[in-house]
Amino acid sequence: MELAQRVQSLTPSSTLAITAKAKALKAEGHDVIGLGAGEPDFNTPNHIIEAAKRSMDEGLTKYTPSGGIPALKSAIIDKMQKDQNLTYNQDQVIVTTGAKHALFTLFQVLLNKKDEVIVPAPYWVSYPEQIKLAEGNPIVVQTKEEQQFKLTPEQLEQSITERTKAVIINSPSNPTGMMYSKEELQAIGEICLKHDILIVSDEIYEKLIYTEEKHISIAQLSDSLFNQTIIINGVSKSHSMTGWRIGYALGQAKIIKAMTNLASHSTSNPTSISQYGALAAYNGSDQDIEEMRSAFSDRLEKLYSWIVDIPGIHCEKPKGAFYLFPNVKQAAALCGYDQVDDWVTALLDEEKVALVPGSGFGSPENVRLSYATSLDQLEEAANRIKHFIEKHK
Ligand code: PLP
Repeated sequence: MELAQRVQSLTPSSTLAITAKAKALKAEGHDVIGLGAGEPDFNTPNHIIEAAKRSMDEGLTKYTPSGGIPALKSAIIDKMQKDQNLTYNQDQVIVTTGAKHALFTLFQVLLNKKDEVIVPAPYWVSYPEQIKLAEGNPIVVQTKEEQQFKLTPEQLEQSITERTKAVIINSPSNPTGMMYSKEELQAIGEICLKHDILIVSDEIYEKLIYTEEKHISIAQLSDSLFNQTIIINGVSKSHSMTGWRIGYALGQAKIIKAMTNLASHSTSNPTSISQYGALAAYNGSDQDIEEMRSAFSDRLEKLYSWIVDIPGIHCEKPKGAFYLFPNVKQAAALCGYDQVDDWVTALLDEEKVALVPGSGFGSPENVRLSYATSLDQLEEAANRIKHFIEKHK
């Protein structure tokens, strides 16, 4: 039986693939250090777990409204008001099974065949695939280290055609950790307004910032930009709740309604128990978030200093998320590899350090290192990478 065309070119997420390979080596007894993880290594805070348990005891284990329980929507609305001074109504929020599915559903309701979505590279691996699954066309725009991997207004303007429907802005970014300034967002926003392009603002890493800069959403910059933006967010990264699968989208009621209708025929609703957990996350104090942020910040400082000390590696210092995205082209060449992908495979085979090749993020000279693991492991990984390069050069 031949599978549908839409899945024939679909590959598994490269981040999940490397994590699986590292796990398999570990299971064989190898001492593998996995820096591929896209999830915080902390436990979900206890009060959230307790709230979810209570919801089960209270029998809150049935279908919920497709777009999420009203109490959670209200908590999200309050959070947006408090953090960003943005005012949303209940009909402008949908709770989804993770931010990933919010994006998936959004592209499904937004795109007709061949509609274009501008995707700045390096990009999060699922954006282009999800756009293609909605029969749209991802228009990948390459950004460079010199521009801190950020889309410039000129690049955006040049990429727009009459088919352009949306642009994705992910700040802080996975995989680069870069953040757009208010002025940069303003300039991008003006172009989007001029051409009536929807802004998909993926803000999932907003709570993980390690500089004095504050997170700014493009939706905050004017009333018109508020209307032009769909914000995507969730509790996976902020509250270490990746397995709970709770995300959300905020924006124009018309779009949210279509997404909710689609959810009613696909997921029915996000898991009831997880929604009560997320409700506790937003109604609780921010202290757990701050503790995690502070641990990540410490790791970033140390790992960054170890990594930039290695010959052939160059790295822009990230401001947020929990990844480094160094350029290792020269390091690979020093070891006799033309392709960074091959260097990454050899590093895993010989030194048992798992990194994610940048090719999956549209940036083949780079690798992604996640620092969602202990400082000891990070130091050992940096030593092994250094040793690998010195051994081969
Ligand atoms: N957006 C970005 C940029 C991500 O890195 C991720 C997770 O890796 C997601 C969205 C999806 O998060 P979740 O589906 O766990 O809420």
